[in-house]
Amino acid sequence: MNKLNDVATEVASVKLLIDGKFVDSATSQWRDVVNPATQDVLARVPFATPAEVDAAVASAKEAFRTWRKTPIGARSRIFLKYQQLIRENMGELAALLTAEQGKTLPDAEGDVFRGLEVVEHASGIGHLQLGELANNVAGGVDTFTLLQPLGVCAGITPFNFPAMIPLWMFPMAIATGNTFVLKPSEQDPMVTMRLVELALEAGVPPGVLNVVHGGEEVVNAICDHPDIKAVSFVGSTGVGTHVYHRASKAGKRVQCMMGAKNHAVVLPDANREQTLNALAGAAFGAAGQRCMAASTAVLVGEAASWIPDLVERARGLKVNAGDQPGTDVGPVISCASRERIEKLIASGVEQGAKLELDGRSPKVPGYESGNFVGPTIFSGVKPGMRIYDEEIFGPVLVILTAETLDEAIELVNANPNGNGTAVFTQSGAAARRFQEDIDVGQVGINVPIPVPVPLFSFTGSRASKLGDLGPYGKQVVLFYTQTKTVTQRWFDDDTLHVGVNTTISLK
Ligand code: NAD
Repeated sequence: MNKLNDVATEVASVKLLIDGKFVDSATSQWRDVVNPATQDVLARVPFATPAEVDAAVASAKEAFRTWRKTPIGARSRIFLKYQQLIRENMGELAALLTAEQGKTLPDAEGDVFRGLEVVEHASGIGHLQLGELANNVAGGVDTFTLLQPLGVCAGITPFNFPAMIPLWMFPMAIATGNTFVLKPSEQDPMVTMRLVELALEAGVPPGVLNVVHGGEEVVNAICDHPDIKAVSFVGSTGVGTHVYHRASKAGKRVQCMMGAKNHAVVLPDANREQTLNALAGAAFGAAGQRCMAASTAVLVGEAASWIPDLVERARGLKVNAGDQPGTDVGPVISCASRERIEKLIASGVEQGAKLELDGRSPKVPGYESGNFVGPTIFSGVKPGMRIYDEEIFGPVLVILTAETLDEAIELVNANPNGNGTAVFTQSGAAARRFQEDIDVGQVGINVPIPVPVPLFSFTGSRASKLGDLGPYGKQVVLFYTQTKTVTQRWFDDDTLHVGVNTTISLK
């Protein structure tokens, strides 16, 4: 069972990283890291003490003095080396991730790979952190911008992508010249720590990257710490809102990527086979524990008749431990999470939705104690039902219907969340209309999970995001830097003295 305990046990302890050294925490508070398919305890993770958080920040602050002036080429080469090390260790990283998080091995590789893409992007920092220059803005005067690092930045990450999301954060923060304190999810910190070890092996100097573990208290200490300049958070809406307000109040720059309810709108002219496969994969893959999961289908007009086919496809998915060949749906992260999902399924029945497929208590031979929930489908779902209003974060697809595309767009726009959405159609005109009128930050057109590659940024919107700038890509360069605008004039030695100028204009 996941638990906090105050008794030292025999399993390995997850280390803190402070000033380039992996160290044991002096805390008395620990939590087990548990394999969600077997309940085996894999390690125990410390809840760092306030002094340890202070030491991590102090180390990052000291390291910033030199790191901020490190030549671009030197920063860039570290990330070139880092991407190579991640590739070489892909198998080990994926296996570690599957053991502690539960997702299938191919999904775990995908988790690492999407983070690796950000590391590759960070290695091109020379192009990304360029300023602008305007020549002769006045006689003999030029204006240019510098994108300067902020100082110590911090990242707080969720359990569902323990490789990708830490890699959204520290590579770009460090590549832009900042130093970093990372607080990984306490539920699955092991793959994150392996990635951190590889970062050091690639050449990230002592103090430039630090790691503290913990929960609410450590997160609050990060939000309040006077020497931290910016905080990037990814996690649930409740915690993210708290982090945003607390860290903003303490004067920090903050970005929070939060919870979701992503709608896939299916028009009757969509390619039926492709669409049904896409829906099943996007709703049930990673056991529905993706912030961009297509957890809500809106079937428009005749597409409502596709429900039996969708149910058959979902019924055919194989529920098993993530490291077993052929698994489609692994366990959810914890017993508490399984119980929560099961309660939400029960609420759907109570509130009058039609349970088309019940995934509760699936039989998984050899893994009887795993946190499994099989694919579950509800039809006849309406706003106001808990299964529609709340993020379930499990393998549960809720289906609504609409008469027209307009009605579907209205429904999606009335939902407070804005992380992702998709439309399935063969009509360019309908797709364009959707893309124009939908009020959601990331849109897929016949693409069920439209997570942008790092040439762009992650652009969730409305209740799914707080802060103006998204993680990775172009936007995050601005998040992790302060633009300084310099206006300069140089005088020739023989320039005539023109007298005192008390106006603000430059001539
Ligand atoms: P979570 O909010 O429980 O935890 C996220 C982080 O906050 C963890 O590091 C955790 O230790 C910390 N935390 C937990 N409780 C806290 C508290 N009371 N005070 C301060 N810090 C606290 O989220 P999770 O369950 O790990 O992750 C799943 C959630 O993350 C889902 O809602 C999902 O949609 C969201 N998510 C969003 C995105 C996105 O890009 N929008 C991406 C991935 C996950």
